[in-house]
Parts: sequence; C-alpha cells; structure tokens
Amino acid sequence: MARQFFVGGNFKMNPATQADKLALAKVLNEAELDPATEVVISPPALYLIPLKEAIRKDIKVAAQNCYLKDSGAFTGEISPAQLADAQIPYVILGHSERRTIFHETSEIVAQKTRAALDKGLSVILCIGETLKEREAEETAKVCQAQLKAAVDVLKEGDWSKIVIAYEPVWAIGTGKVATPQQAQQAHVDIRSYLSKVVSSSVADSIRIIYGGSVSAANCKELSTLPDVDGFLVGGASLKPEFVQIVNSKK
Ligand code: PGA
Repeated sequence: MARQFFVGGNFKMNPATQADKLALAKVLNEAELDPATEVVISPPALYLIPLKEAIRKDIKVAAQNCYLKDSGAFTGEISPAQLADAQIPYVILGHSERRTIFHETSEIVAQKTRAALDKGLSVILCIGETLKEREAEETAKVCQAQLKAAVDVLKEGDWSKIVIAYEPVWAIGTGKVATPQQAQQAHVDIRSYLSKVVSSSVADSIRIIYGGSVSAANCKELSTLPDVDGFLVGGASLKPEFVQIVNSKK
C-alpha cells in the first residue's frame, strides 16, 4: 500500500523570537513544495495559533507535547482538548528529550497518546534507542518495549492516526545520522513487530519516519529506502534547507 511521504519540522524550544518564526514561515510560504508530501511543523505551544494563521494552508501545525487530562490543576500543561479546540491537528509525543529530561515513561506516553486520539488529534509517536542500547544490540528490543505500552492501550483502528518517528537518541542533534542500512533495518523491525502484535494491515499502512540529524545533504538517500516514509527534522527545520528535505522525493 502506498504510504504518503511525511516530513515534520520539530522546532523544539526555538526560535527565540516572533520575528524569527515569521521569517521561517515566509520561507515555507514562498517555497515550491512537493504536493505529494504531507508537511507538519511544530513550534513551541505559544506560537501554535499565530503560526497556524501565518502558514500556508497545505502545511499543518503540531504541538510538541500535551498532557493526558482534559483540564484541571496541572500548572504548565496543555491538554488534548485545548489543542483540539484550537484546531491543532497533530501532537508529537514521546520525544527522547521528553523521555530523558522530563522523565516520561513509555506508559505515560501511551496514556497521552490515548488521550490525544480520544480528542481527535493525530500523534507523531517517537521511539528510539540510546547509543549504549545500540552497542548492546538492543535496538529492536527497546523500540518494541516503547511501542508495547501504546499497543496495550490502542485499538487497531487507532493506528491510522499515528505516525511513528524512529529517532535513535545518539543521532538527535549530534550530526551523526543513522546509516541507510541502520534506518531501514530499524524500520523493518518496527513494522514486523506491529504485524505480529497489531495486524499486518496496520504494519503495511503505518508511516514510520526517521529522525536524527536529517539534513539536505543526507535526506535524498534516506528517502529512497523502502521502509522510510519521511522524516522528523529538528535543527534543519529552522533553516531554509528544510524545503529541500520536504522535497527529497521530488
Ligand atoms: P535533529 O533533531 O534533526 O536536530 O537531530 C531531530 C528531533 O529531535 O526530532
């Protein structure tokens, strides 16, 4: 089954100013983008609504996180219900920075995923191993354990609203991109796990995107891999080269 290529830009806690953000939007608004690719950009929560208004309509916006309750005494959090009310269609969950710096477990990420789907959001669900885990040849095992928590709380039909981002922690923000062989193998392993524990149709249709030091220089080769359905881009999404990454299949 043909899977639509997907490129997400994860701005993280950048850019520093409104003006920088509008400059980024201008580059994208004026660019010729491959209409066959789904493009989603994810600014800090503060900028979701203004960026949604400033950006061309064929680019969607995503939150970088949300909580698992609809409302209440959770200072500093933002709820799936609020994102849905603001017509934000996507949320990134389980990014390795959330897992490591903010101590989010796979179970919490799974509960957040459940809560986001219940409000009609789509989820970019991030998984990936550390360098130590890769060196111990535990990549597939770690990805499966991170996914299992989601498998336990999702129904088969839920997976059509999920994009899995395979992001090896050692490749994030390091300039050390996974080799095509490493990326392809990890994606195949994720697909075969989902085939086993969910269904073969979910495994065939779900988009699995790669993240970790994706750049204009390496995106073309990675985009030709049969099981790589796109990218989640951090640093390079803040630069004009993001346009080349969006167009990597063109
Ligand atoms: P990077 O980040 O492209 O800067 O490595 C990717 C990510 O964290 O999603």
